[in-house]
Amino acid sequence: MEKTFSMIKPEAVLGGNAGKIMTAVEESGLKIVAQKMLRLSPEQAGSFYAVHRDKAFFDELIENITAGPVIVQVLAGENAIEEYRRLMGAANPAAAEEGTLRRLYGISIEKNAVHGSDCAETAEREISFFFNQLEIMQ
Ligand code: GDP
Repeated sequence: MEKTFSMIKPEAVLGGNAGKIMTAVEESGLKIVAQKMLRLSPEQAGSFYAVHRDKAFFDELIENITAGPVIVQVLAGENAIEEYRRLMGAANPAAAEEGTLRRLYGISIEKNAVHGSDCAETAEREISFFFNQLEIMQ
């Protein structure tokens, strides 16, 4: 069983799409083994997205991710990282495959509804950024 980190972004929570996203996750076979809702401060968001600090879109990224509550989750399953990336679709909703979460619920590349870890090292870092061991169902 592999674990990955998922974030339902503010535009999806505020847009009333969090429940539909969770249903799609469960129907895909992935299990939600930890979950909470919170609102990131600009400092926390900057630390979470530190790898993008030098990108032109960094300020916009921080603004979007702090615009409202997010739902952070740990998902578990076989090939969870790759499976969730497939379910999310491409970063740009317009280019994402039909039926993917970003195609269905994304508004733009910066408001693309969901985030998911891109590899095992990132998953470990992102999960421990938000959750301690007691909060993750085994
Ligand atoms: P992800 O792993 O598919 O979420 O993509 P990245 O880690 O590369 O980027 C993180 C987030 O930054 C994306 O989900 C987008 O919200 C945003 N982002 C990525 N590329 C761009 C871009 O070219 N322009 C803008 N405005 N935002 C971007």
